[in-house]
Amino acid sequence: MPGRKKDISYFDIIMRKRSCFFISFFIILIISLSLNATLDTLFAEYIHMVPDEKAEFLLNRGIGYFNLNDYQKALEYLKTAQNKYNQTGNKEGISKCLNNLGNVYNNLGQYEKALEYHLRSLDIEQEIQNKNGITRSLNNIGNVYQNTGDLERALEFYLKSLELTYETNDKSAIAKSLNNVGNIHLSQGDFDSALEYYTRSLKIKQSIQDKFGIANSYNNIGIAYQGLHQPARALEYYQKSLQLVKEVYDNHGIATALYHSGILYFELQDLKKALSTLQEALQYAEQINDRNIMMSCYRTIAEIFSQKKDYHKAYEFYKLYAQTKDELISEESSKAIIEMRVKYETESKEREIELLKQNVALKAVESRRQTLFMIIITIGFVFFAIIAFFVYNQLRLKAYSNKIIAEQNEKLKKAYKKVEELASIDSLTGLSNRRDILKKIRHEANRFDRNKKPFALIMGDIDDFKSVNDTYGHEAGDTVLQAIADFIKTNIRKQDTVGRWGGEEFLILLPDTGLKGAKFIAEKLREGIFSYKIQYSNYDLNVTITFGVSVYKQLRDINECIKEADQALYLGKIRKKNCVISSDELK
Ligand code: GH3
Ligand code: MG
Ligand code: MG
Repeated sequence: MPGRKKDISYFDIIMRKRSCFFISFFIILIISLSLNATLDTLFAEYIHMVPDEKAEFLLNRGIGYFNLNDYQKALEYLKTAQNKYNQTGNKEGISKCLNNLGNVYNNLGQYEKALEYHLRSLDIEQEIQNKNGITRSLNNIGNVYQNTGDLERALEFYLKSLELTYETNDKSAIAKSLNNVGNIHLSQGDFDSALEYYTRSLKIKQSIQDKFGIANSYNNIGIAYQGLHQPARALEYYQKSLQLVKEVYDNHGIATALYHSGILYFELQDLKKALSTLQEALQYAEQINDRNIMMSCYRTIAEIFSQKKDYHKAYEFYKLYAQTKDELISEESSKAIIEMRVKYETESKEREIELLKQNVALKAVESRRQTLFMIIITIGFVFFAIIAFFVYNQLRLKAYSNKIIAEQNEKLKKAYKKVEELASIDSLTGLSNRRDILKKIRHEANRFDRNKKPFALIMGDIDDFKSVNDTYGHEAGDTVLQAIADFIKTNIRKQDTVGRWGGEEFLILLPDTGLKGAKFIAEKLREGIFSYKIQYSNYDLNVTITFGVSVYKQLRDINECIKEADQALYLGKIRKKNCVISSDELK
């Protein structure tokens, strides 16, 4: 029986532990996978929230502000566009931003920065092998060097650009590069080379019918011829240029061509033509507010009037010249102030961006920490649930097994009791058996040792019982035995006990009873049985019984006392049966 408890707890618990382990393992696996998947999709969505269109829009705004000379806004837009392109990884876009940023810095006179941006742009264009982009960057780098006065370097880059433009066969770009090279030669005073490049540029521009470009080339060729001291040819080209720019209503071109012609006339000492041409140039220059042309015109006109000895007019134009010069200088200084402001604001913007980046990094760390915390909490919770489940199960199983044990014990007790009962009770009559009645007699004898109270024994034997069996059958005999047993049991006191001593023999124990009392009881029983009709089948059976009575008075062996009752019974059988004989009659 104790094995049963073992079976329930160990087997069940092991089985449950195993399944719980696998279930919890899968729960943790599913939780981790779903967490990962959510993070991945969030990240992917974030990337796709910044499309190229947005960056391109910002880039175009930046270029727009650059053309309006609003460098501060241009820088803001171009840098934001660059950041967006950085996120999408669009290299062409990044390069465009860098190129335009370089142009802004170049115009602001921040040549080092301009160079840095153009070189970065060039790197990217080379990486993505975009020849047009490369030529553009090379030209822009040339522009920066030209502005810094490093003409050699500028030429180097323009020539590189020129070489590449021939490869791409982009005529407009070839013409532009040739013009750039020509400009450098002009600046170096190499008028022959300048003329050569300007002429080559002109031919290409003519082939693609670029009227603005052609007019510009005529003008440049004119300047080159002027440098070569060929004023007639110079004038010829200035006139060609003037004719063309008038056709296309290019006021800047008109002002430039007239200005150059006027200066040439002045050099040639044709003061009249010089004055009228410069005054005309001045009108156009004032219209487009080109202060450089205005200033040069004022000064030259002042000199013409001076030479003409018209000092009053000369003075007036000289005043205009000085005034315009002042304006230009203040314009330059305000430009310098803007530069400084842009520099300051750009730096603080960069600091802000840096701080924002740090913030984003911190937030990322924080969110990772939170995710980790959530995972640990979840795992902890799952483990806690598993442990709680185990403990609960163990307690439940313990309670269950305890209940079963209690039930089994109860059954066992009942079984023991039954066994005991069976061991002390006669199965046919339900009376104490020989062993049990002997035990009780021994108990009474012990009591006598303490309180000296006598007890009596009555031994009874059914008379001629064999003939009942013989006449009516064994079953009838059994019925008689049961009936007699019941009869005796119901007709003795509560404290008395009757037992089946043998086949048809009964032994009655009467505590606190003397011989006289016992004889009286025996007689009463004998008479009762004598007149007792026992129902069996259709018969009324009647038996008699003979009793022998003895008493336990002094210290002696209980077997002796039983023997005395038996001997008295035997005497009764010999004498007449159906009688009561007491032990005192044996003497
Ligand atoms: P006496 O008057 O001298 O006692 O004669 P008797 O026939 O009663 O005595 P005897 O010893 O010759 O016979 C006893 C009979 O009791 C024998 C046996 O078959 C019968 N007997 C004993 N035990 C049982 C029992 O449990 N059931 C039945 N039906 N008969 C029993
Ligand atoms: Mg007998
Ligand atoms: Mg008998």
